Amino acid sequence: MNDFPTQLLINGTWLDGSGAKRLAIVNPATEEPFAEVSSATADEIGQAAKAAQAAFESGWRDLPPGQRAEMLHNLAKRIRENTENIAQLETRNVGKPIGDARWEADAGAKVFDYYAGAIGHLCGQTIPVARGGFDFTLRQPMGVIAAITPWNFPFLIACWKVAPALAAGNAVVLKPASLTPLTALMLGQLAQEADLPNGVLQVLPGSGAEAGHALATHPLVRKIGFTGSTEVGTTIMKLAADDIKRVSLELGGKSPNIVFADANWERAAAESPMSVFANTGQDCCARSRMFIEQSIFDRFVDQFVAATEALNIGDPGNETTQVGPMICAAQRELSESFIAGARDAGCEIRSGGDRPDESGFYLNPAVITGVETSDRAWREEIFGPVVCLRPFNDEAEMLREVNDTNFGLSGSVWSSNLSRALRVARRVESGVISVNTHSSVHTEAPFGGFKRSGLGRDLGMSAMEACTEVKNIYVGE
Ligand code: NAD
Repeated sequence: MNDFPTQLLINGTWLDGSGAKRLAIVNPATEEPFAEVSSATADEIGQAAKAAQAAFESGWRDLPPGQRAEMLHNLAKRIRENTENIAQLETRNVGKPIGDARWEADAGAKVFDYYAGAIGHLCGQTIPVARGGFDFTLRQPMGVIAAITPWNFPFLIACWKVAPALAAGNAVVLKPASLTPLTALMLGQLAQEADLPNGVLQVLPGSGAEAGHALATHPLVRKIGFTGSTEVGTTIMKLAADDIKRVSLELGGKSPNIVFADANWERAAAESPMSVFANTGQDCCARSRMFIEQSIFDRFVDQFVAATEALNIGDPGNETTQVGPMICAAQRELSESFIAGARDAGCEIRSGGDRPDESGFYLNPAVITGVETSDRAWREEIFGPVVCLRPFNDEAEMLREVNDTNFGLSGSVWSSNLSRALRVARRVESGVISVNTHSSVHTEAPFGGFKRSGLGRDLGMSAMEACTEVKNIYVGE
């Protein structure tokens, strides 16, 4: 008997799915299955959508904002009380180092507290219209919002999607990635314990092809909040078009890390490995393309390789582990195909790229130089522990290369000349960028991508506003 939920949460009840298929949950550190989870059918998604609509209409949307805020603060408290359980489960299911998993669970609680507090700040406007009278806007909830999430940050991204949608007064149907549904189910359980009304948050694991598709096309769903690959994001946007459903899409990335010679580049070299190898490179914000000013290139690469080789790679349950296994065999093989392609193209693998001896989907972080801008490893999102470094001489030419990509999610600039750093930060075509640090994701600030990295913004007030419709009301004199 598991001490975590493995059924579908539909309208406040835990149910075995009616479908024959169940999701096998594997520990990436051992390659051993350790649980089976119900997989929702299209029919069950339909039941959940109806229950969500009923919960929305029968009280949730009209609940006084203070009461909604109190429930979300209660949920944050329940998450905090269960941080260790959530973290242990996430580590077992994703292979994430336990320290990271604890941080993410706690960050999830902070997200609920933030949006509980934000409820009192979701304001409309009064507008002095030309003909006089009184004109004002309301921000109203939409109804049922679908949240479809990926496997790399299962708990935290679920919180990013669910908290602003609930805070704005919507009901949510959450479909986690089929590889990693466990902590999303736990979030559903904690929401019950925090006394959220039945149907306000339902959690239905299942495949993208059946459960995800059914959710994205259900007529009661008004908005789809999606995080995942650009490929599936494109499908979601097309599916949403028929009903003009609202979408917010947080998609892939191929983010630059730009280091000028006038920077504290020793610090950049020491800190940059974790900007790409954290979460074993399975991070949409991974700084996987590095641009290093020519005059420091060789010394920088030496220090970067030394810092990479000093990382603690191994059992994610160990307190000191920094890099765990990849999520599954297929993702590891995909990364290896990029490394082999780079080698065949004549690039130099300066470190890693091989498998350690132990079982588990481990891959030693690969550092690649000698890459051309046309190489696959330079152009495509790898979503694994692989980084490419190129030297640059000229700022304008470097920026042209930086922006020569379909992605535009994140990035970093290192320079002690703040004017230059800000000039470059403004020119990089990405939704988020950090200067002299790799920290660029903050609960209170908007997060999302330019170009094919996405549409709309998670986090901050932007995410909550994007879970509302604006209504204009005019009162004649
Ligand atoms: P994915 O696109 O394969 O799956 C994401 C979700 O979509 C899963 O729940 C999946 O079941 C569902 N899905 C798949 N096909 C579907 C369909 N036809 N209709 C509806 N739903 C469907 O992504 P993944 O492999 O889980 O995650 C990795 C990707 O996510 C990477 O590209 C990464 O860059 C991206 N990502 C982006 C962000 C961001 O904030 N920009 C954050 C994390 C991950």
